[in-house]
Amino acid sequence: MKTPQLLNFAFDKWVQGEGNLADIASAIDGSLVARTGSGGLDFGGMLRHAREVGGPALRKLTFHERARIIKGLGLAIMARKEELYDLSYQTGATRKDGWIDIEGGAGTLFSFSSKGRRELPDAHVLLDGAVEPLSKSGSFIGQHIYTPLQGAAVHINAFNFPVWGMLEKLAPTFLAGMPAIVKPASSTAYLCEAAVRVMVESGLLPPGSLQLIVGGVGDLFDHLTGQDVVSFTGSASTALKLRSHPVVQRESVKFVAEQDSLNASLLGPDAAPGTPEFDLFVKEVVNEMTAKAGQKCTAIRRAMAPVEYLDAVEAAIRDRLAATKVGDPRDKESRMGALVSTSQRDDVRAQIGKLTAAGARIVAGNPDASPGIAGGAFMEPILLRSDDPWSNSAVHDVEAFGPVSTVMPYRDMADAIALANRGMGSLALSLFTYSPEAAREFIQGAAAYHGRMLVLNRDNGAESTGHGSPLPVLVHGGPGRAGGSEEMGGVRGVKHYMQRTAIQSTPAMIAAISEQYIPGGPKHEILQHPFRRRMSELTIGDTLKTKSRTVTLEDIEHFAHFTGDTFYAHMDDEAAKASPIFEGRVAHGYLILSFAAGLFVDPDPGPVLANTGLENLRFLTPLYPDDSMRVELTVRSKSLKSEDTGVVRWAVEIFNQNDELVATYDLLTENVP
Ligand code: NDP
Repeated sequence: MKTPQLLNFAFDKWVQGEGNLADIASAIDGSLVARTGSGGLDFGGMLRHAREVGGPALRKLTFHERARIIKGLGLAIMARKEELYDLSYQTGATRKDGWIDIEGGAGTLFSFSSKGRRELPDAHVLLDGAVEPLSKSGSFIGQHIYTPLQGAAVHINAFNFPVWGMLEKLAPTFLAGMPAIVKPASSTAYLCEAAVRVMVESGLLPPGSLQLIVGGVGDLFDHLTGQDVVSFTGSASTALKLRSHPVVQRESVKFVAEQDSLNASLLGPDAAPGTPEFDLFVKEVVNEMTAKAGQKCTAIRRAMAPVEYLDAVEAAIRDRLAATKVGDPRDKESRMGALVSTSQRDDVRAQIGKLTAAGARIVAGNPDASPGIAGGAFMEPILLRSDDPWSNSAVHDVEAFGPVSTVMPYRDMADAIALANRGMGSLALSLFTYSPEAAREFIQGAAAYHGRMLVLNRDNGAESTGHGSPLPVLVHGGPGRAGGSEEMGGVRGVKHYMQRTAIQSTPAMIAAISEQYIPGGPKHEILQHPFRRRMSELTIGDTLKTKSRTVTLEDIEHFAHFTGDTFYAHMDDEAAKASPIFEGRVAHGYLILSFAAGLFVDPDPGPVLANTGLENLRFLTPLYPDDSMRVELTVRSKSLKSEDTGVVRWAVEIFNQNDELVATYDLLTENVP
């Protein structure tokens, strides 16, 4: 059978690379899986296509429309996942490894889609923080906003997660409204190409929003501008080369890097052999060594234990590793598959050589053994031990990107913190302890050096997502050696693909720009009660102005005795007067809220289904007995939660008889769309 040639996807067409093609070998047996190349592509033209076609198409959509596309892409991947699993085996991945990559990738799309619909407005602009008052009368205010960058996001991905690695970057990029050009690592590009094909064939992608380069990037970097973003995952040396590119420097191109990381895991001082924490630690170290054959950017490379427990740790890990069957990833019995290629295995062997030359001892596994299938890239998991980690800098500096970990002792908490931080910046760290004191001391001493930290013990061990799993809602990235960047983290990750701008103007202008009601901005009073309108019949700025009611001392006393809230400020005039805040007895905040609801609610069943919460509640002016209050209820923003539920955010402003603001808050209701 003819070896397939992978295709690039450029200018919304599948394009064959010209000239020299690279062979990609199967990790299982070395046979040829595909040929690949990107010769002849017009890289500058691809950037222009992204900027001129993809960007405008995406920016026309709201955050919610983009979020729905992202969900659709996830569903498309899930519907054709078996095609992807078939290819994934060729990368050396077991079914479980493939699940992390393929279904984990789709799950990341679902998570970003859901975050986008829940936490972002159904608009084109994202507000950052609250209005900043800049003048006495309120006619001049400031507001930070985010808008999508108008260039292209260039994603350069590592070989280890060809699907997830692409999707964890694409989801926030698309949600932000930016087109992407994806360049997968060559050794597993066939799986990435297949996943791109699934997304393209879903018909959901706006033109120009996604392009694929299955080979070198040619002169692409020469055409970057300050509106583009490069998001890189791979080795520190390639990251350094790319971020030092003169065009990246000259144009201040945003550069997000996720690179080498000597992640640590620590057995707490309380976690003696026999405790649940000890067992969880051993299990996690072994799991991190063998999942994906240790080719994970978050894998545990340094396993630290109190010096008195080190022998027990070493023995327990060795026993567990002995039961790990290495072999054909398609075989259900195999616990660990192959490395991605024989050259990657050679590289791991060479790195192990550096670790042993610096004084670490191999205590489990033979690096030169070649288990599994002839011609494949299999190796045994290797456990090393370094009894003096302060005199062996290699164990903190050399990343063997395979099934390799080093156990090492620490003397006390200060030593543990210093050793963990000696990795010079990592993506993930785990601490196994049942002692809150140990957790506090350790995390406060080490958090600055680590992007994500898990504290695991008997209470969360069963439900934990594990040391090595980056989660779409949490940041993935780390300081220093790990690249100094962050990816994902929910909406935080979306902002990498947007520009923050401080806007200064009137509330009316800022409301128009941001497509949201801004306090002080224009309102249009409507006569029909807004609770009688479906969400689609409501317009931003629609306002109900209620009649006013007087709040009497009797109301306050009744409320106090009815609820049991007899706080002095409501019940004791002298004490209230003596306080620095009040001039006498005041109405309860909760009474004001209850009366406000009494003023604005329309009682009949209708398109408003439920009150789901209040946010940003502030009491600004006390309400004294015989003061009156009235409410203005204004549609601030609208979003769709699902096909048949909408969420309306209402600005509630409560005024007294002098039109002073007594209280403000956002009311959230679920509505019929
Ligand atoms: P590389 O840094 O070599 O490659 C990463 C990506 O960069 C690949 O897509 C690669 O493409 C691309 N690339 C390489 N050179 C250039 C260039 N000049 N211009 C544009 N793109 C380029 O890392 P590898 O994936 O080969 O892995 C090597 C080592 O990196 C591992 O052994 C491990 O130590 C570390 N690594 C760390 C990861 C982490 O997140 N911590 C993840 C993966 C790797 P191509 O494949 O076509 O060369």
